[in-house]
Amino acid sequence: MDDRRIAVVIEDDEDIRGLLVTLLTQSGFTVHEASVGADGVRAVHDHDPVLVTVDLGLPDIDGYEVTRRIRQFSDAYVLMLTARSEEIDALMGLDVGADDYVVKPFRPRELRARVEAMMRRPRTIGASPSSPSAPSAPTSPAAAPAAPVMPADATGGVDGGGGPGFELDGLRVSPSLFQVVVEGAEVQLTPTEFILLKTLLASKRVVRTKVELSRILRDEDPDSDTFVSAADERSVEVHIGNLRRKLGDDPARPRWVETVRGVGYRAAGDAQRI
Ligand code: CA
Repeated sequence: MDDRRIAVVIEDDEDIRGLLVTLLTQSGFTVHEASVGADGVRAVHDHDPVLVTVDLGLPDIDGYEVTRRIRQFSDAYVLMLTARSEEIDALMGLDVGADDYVVKPFRPRELRARVEAMMRRPRTIGASPSSPSAPSAPTSPAAAPAAPVMPADATGGVDGGGGPGFELDGLRVSPSLFQVVVEGAEVQLTPTEFILLKTLLASKRVVRTKVELSRILRDEDPDSDTFVSAADERSVEVHIGNLRRKLGDDPARPRWVETVRGVGYRAAGDAQRI
């Protein structure tokens, strides 16, 4: 775990910004705030946070563009905040590099839970030797990440922190290095995509439903009965779509991630532990 708990809040609504600052401060973060997108990008650049909250509707550049710019030099967790009417739009945020989103108005407890779940995911952040003053090097070095912490049952009994990796048809996944290699070439995944891929490979050929995958992403027991919304499930679909695109996996003829229509996803073959 990275003990530098620095967060940047990018939000133009003063009340919501104040609430976010208060909540994150209570959760142990040192918080920097910005009320417009351009200042927010600069704050992320200057402070190298582990977490960024981005409001979708900002007065200058929108939350998508902010996230896109942040992603050029930062692998911070990006939590997008969106109004109810923008919920479907928020899914687009996942395409430009956001890790999760929360709909306003949110309950403080919900926001804290989302943030804590994200902070428990594996990540390269903090392991990167690149200084935030060097944004010209967008390729993040494949440095050793903080040990991912996942409940064993969520990943099919696999210890995510330095545990075994998987190999399937030219794809190698190494949790200890937070590394994915396709045909010898490294592929950069977001932590969310990495967890989904690792979970499917670790599950052998057992189908994982979107509900289970949503819970796993929240670091919950997949068999618990916590509420999963239709938007949460849709968000899993978007992440899986992004994952496939990055891997170069054709959904019509999957090598790695297979859709089981109306149910969920499973590995396209029996992955070997390595
Ligand atoms: Ca706004």
